Amino acid sequence: MALDAIPAVVPAVAPNMPDYALARREFSWAQARAALDGLPGGRGLNIAHEAVDRHVRAGRGPRVAVRYLPLSGRRQEITFAGLARSTNRFANLLGRLGVAPGDRVFACLGRVPELVIAALGTLKARAVFAPLFSAFGPEPLRARVAIGRPKVLVTAQSLYRQKIAAIRAGLEGLEHVLLVRDEPGALPVGTLDFHALLRAASPAFTIEATDPEDAALLHFTSGTTGRPKAAVHVHEAVVAHHATGLLALDLHPDDVFWCTADPGWVTGTSYGIIAPLTCGVKSILDEGDFDAERWYAIVAGERVTVWYTAPTAIRMMMRLGAEVARRHDTSRLRFLASVGEPLAPEAVAWGSKAFGLPFHDNWWQTETGGIMIANFPATEIRPGSMGLPLPGIEAAVVERRADGGVRVLPPGMQGEIALRPGWPSMFRGYLGDPARYRGCFADGWYLTGDLARRDDDGYFWFVGRADDVIKSSGHLIGPFEVESVLLEHEAVAEAGVIGRPDPAAFEIVKAFVSLKPGYAGDEALQRGILALARRRLGAAVAPKELAFLPALPRTRSGKIMRRLLKARELGLPEGDLSTLENPDGPAASPRATAP
Ligand code: ATP
Ligand code: MG
Repeated sequence: MALDAIPAVVPAVAPNMPDYALARREFSWAQARAALDGLPGGRGLNIAHEAVDRHVRAGRGPRVAVRYLPLSGRRQEITFAGLARSTNRFANLLGRLGVAPGDRVFACLGRVPELVIAALGTLKARAVFAPLFSAFGPEPLRARVAIGRPKVLVTAQSLYRQKIAAIRAGLEGLEHVLLVRDEPGALPVGTLDFHALLRAASPAFTIEATDPEDAALLHFTSGTTGRPKAAVHVHEAVVAHHATGLLALDLHPDDVFWCTADPGWVTGTSYGIIAPLTCGVKSILDEGDFDAERWYAIVAGERVTVWYTAPTAIRMMMRLGAEVARRHDTSRLRFLASVGEPLAPEAVAWGSKAFGLPFHDNWWQTETGGIMIANFPATEIRPGSMGLPLPGIEAAVVERRADGGVRVLPPGMQGEIALRPGWPSMFRGYLGDPARYRGCFADGWYLTGDLARRDDDGYFWFVGRADDVIKSSGHLIGPFEVESVLLEHEAVAEAGVIGRPDPAAFEIVKAFVSLKPGYAGDEALQRGILALARRRLGAAVAPKELAFLPALPRTRSGKIMRRLLKARELGLPEGDLSTLENPDGPAASPRATAP
């Protein structure tokens, strides 16, 4: 890769994991479980107890859990004690509506406190919580509700009017719709007032015995490679949320943590809600959409110390330049992390320019429920690498054999990332699709569908999604390596590459790029970018063709949809577009970040 390794920064506070090798040897999930309380009286394990009630029992009730930054009006602070009461009320409210353990409760809300209350209150009631991304249109919402069949939907009055009212009649099994008032006017017929019901419910609630294997969360994947899948997670997942909050995000009790992901996706739940709460830290909940200046102002004004964001957002900040960031006092920041897409070496280094700290890439999936491979505070960063497996995680690069088994590959070889099942936040199934779930396993490994190489020291280097890898003249070419080099060109803002069928080479590499403001996509620039790629990658790997696009097609969670670039290039059917950010044009929202 283009950049040298970055030694672990001398930390402002002692990291939770000062010695990775030692932690790998000594870590056990049983110990990680013991760091949590469990329900009083040995009645099992419940995520909401660990996130909220545990702190209140330990005298931390007055501490601030969530600092909410609304788009208009004053910022609000919610304490652990306050959150305990409101989530108790929500659990009681669900009981009054006839929601039983195992029933599903969906929320389609922006980044507002009601979302946190609904999520944790649902878990207290031992029902299953699923967030829906609030920027979805009616069709993606309908499709997900049809898969998950919730009994209750919590949403906002405006969202209901815009997207749900028209499809309500077709939402089978949905018994109650609870609305948070966010516009004037009476609530529509057939809906209930969230706050009125909450106020009427008792603030006292005892969580009933919860089996750690009870279903707790349902998360839809981003739909980057096809139709979104609904991954089922259980209460035991909280053990991994907590452990990764400590080890991979290095959360300390005095931190101010900001996970910018939308809670409509797994990152926004695992790390926007659960992990910071179990670790007892204050976290920022920002209602607004991405705006670089505003984000810097939040980091400065709220004295954010640990920041977890995504490559799409980092790329947007990079477009504006590091000077803009440097105009703000971001000196409280001590740890930066990123997830969701490959993080180009340029982006890692840009963190150092803009904030004096590199971004730490980490890798995981909706299915894994939590961070699996990461650059840790006390390990050296190799820019372009996703880092090392979390202690307690056995990860390998494997090859699928013709007989259905797998072979573990040695360092340097490219293959599929495989994980040994057994960590607590591993998904327990795809709702309604057991065959697909079974198909993810072979020889005792969970096969992730992502390709990588490992180096001699065990660092994982992302190559691409198995579906996106390009086969050209006998080479296997990972899109990420090519895209990273294209991004080194000063004019390039975004890059996506695909394999275009070719009679001689099987496939040739074709690149699509969008440009930074002020650049024109003419022939000279095209030649210049292709020449840089040939110089850096060699003729066999460099793109042969390059086209300019105003913006690349992305999922609503900010991921480049290479399958769509390819379908459009070849004039093939475009497949499931329910998660496409904007079918006709630019502007991916970097807010919507999922792993
Ligand atoms: P679908 O499974 O529906 O096609 P998806 O895989 O994009 O969608 P998510 O579970 O949200 O849905 O995303 C996980 C995927 O995102 C990973 O499998 C990987 O391809 C990509 N990803 C996440 N983090 C990283 C990272 N740090 N580097 C490279 N890729 C990443
Ligand atoms: Mg996936």
